[in-house]
Amino acid sequence: MPTPAYAELTTRLRHLHLLDTLGHLLGWDEQVNLPPDSADLRAAQQSALAQTSHEAGTHPRLGELLTTLEAAAGLEADQITVVKQSRRDYDRATRLPEAFVKEKAVQASRGYHAWAKARAENDFAAFAPVLEKNLGLAKREAGYLGWAGREYDCMIDLHDPGMTAAAITALFDELKAGLVPLVRAITASPVRPRADLLRGFPVEAQRTFLREVTERLGFDYRRGRIDVSLHPFCSGCGSDIRMTTRFNPDEPLDSLFSSIHETGHGLYEQGLPAAHHGTALGMNAGMGVHESQSRLWENQVGRSRGFWRFFEPRFRELFPAQTAGVSADELYLAINAVAPTLIRVDADEVTYNLHIILRFEIEQQLFAGTLAVRDLPAAWNAAARDLLGLVPDSDRTGVLQDVHWSGGAFGYFPSYCLGNMMAAQLWYRALALRPELEADFARGDFSWLLGWLRREVHAAGRRYAMPELVRRVTGEPLSPQPLLRYLRERYGALYLQ
Ligand SMILES: [Zn+2]
Repeated sequence: MPTPAYAELTTRLRHLHLLDTLGHLLGWDEQVNLPPDSADLRAAQQSALAQTSHEAGTHPRLGELLTTLEAAAGLEADQITVVKQSRRDYDRATRLPEAFVKEKAVQASRGYHAWAKARAENDFAAFAPVLEKNLGLAKREAGYLGWAGREYDCMIDLHDPGMTAAAITALFDELKAGLVPLVRAITASPVRPRADLLRGFPVEAQRTFLREVTERLGFDYRRGRIDVSLHPFCSGCGSDIRMTTRFNPDEPLDSLFSSIHETGHGLYEQGLPAAHHGTALGMNAGMGVHESQSRLWENQVGRSRGFWRFFEPRFRELFPAQTAGVSADELYLAINAVAPTLIRVDADEVTYNLHIILRFEIEQQLFAGTLAVRDLPAAWNAAARDLLGLVPDSDRTGVLQDVHWSGGAFGYFPSYCLGNMMAAQLWYRALALRPELEADFARGDFSWLLGWLRREVHAAGRRYAMPELVRRVTGEPLSPQPLLRYLRERYGALYLQ
């Protein structure tokens, strides 16, 4: 039975959640619809909402309720989960001094513009002071939150609760040992996708195709939509998911696979228990788990033979001239092209993880103080040579390529790779339970996989941190081995026969 204190807590959390959803909606609208001269009003609206939200999230009554409930006997396991998560959020909202929060917000905006300029002018020296300042702010933030001496762990915990730099190092070292030789072997393979494919795909037909694909995968368009923005994203909550994509006639796979990726995020959010939105029971389990859902649909499903057996006839029907004279194998190889590149966001799924390992290793050294900001370009270029076999010809294609550090987002990159590991591990567990999974896909049936994810991952909300969730669903601790197995099986069959 919920006690009055627990009922009041959940009422307050739902209210906070509704304010959050308004913020998501404003943010989505800003990226998709905002008229060019309306940015100032939108910034003021966002700021007013953020203030209201901050007041609700730091309300002393919330603190009293948490203290009462923490001392109460007889709470159920789910209620304890909710109280623990709200304590975490409440402490984070109340422990940072207001002046610090303001300083950080101003610096994030300044940092972004400084980075954009430095990148355009290939001028790392101009960006270095910003990065120094952002590192200092991150360390101070960790101190306020009670993580002094473990600042980088604090950054990781912000994105993936339950993860630490030491745990990630062990996973990434094992992954790297298997991945580097695999990439070398594929790079040396004489097999190459045809370079003349996938040009001149009309945008309207692309739009039709990706709508049919995402609907067939299970995205509920009565509780969500897809629009166009500069960078694809997915926001919103269960009953109103806003996804975006972008179109380029010469890059049809970019819009298709980014849409499938965002659909994976959207399916996860649509699958979180609606009755619990706003509390930990209806909340996603963190960035790594989120990324496992998007990657699973994008890669294990969307790049599979079964998927393309079903969708290829429709693809040819919509793009008859573009696919004339292209065999099924040529098309499939183009979909699974592998080629090391200097740019993370352009990377294929095999080499992508090396980009993340590079950033993780550098972030660790920056936080440990064993790498000075001024030495960063040289360290980056050496790591790119070792891991990718490529040396950036400028900082623009090296250390200045990502936006994350300009806004102070440290400890964020590892989530992408942890998500890839978890996706592969879920995939093999699903295959063990249902060996005919790809035959389902070939018939256009993705319902078993979605149903299983709904029950095993989505329904859990934030009850378990990533390592615990993986163990519960797959029976094994999180490991890079399923990802290595998957990459060797899929890409070995294409490139190394
Ligand atoms: Zn994603």
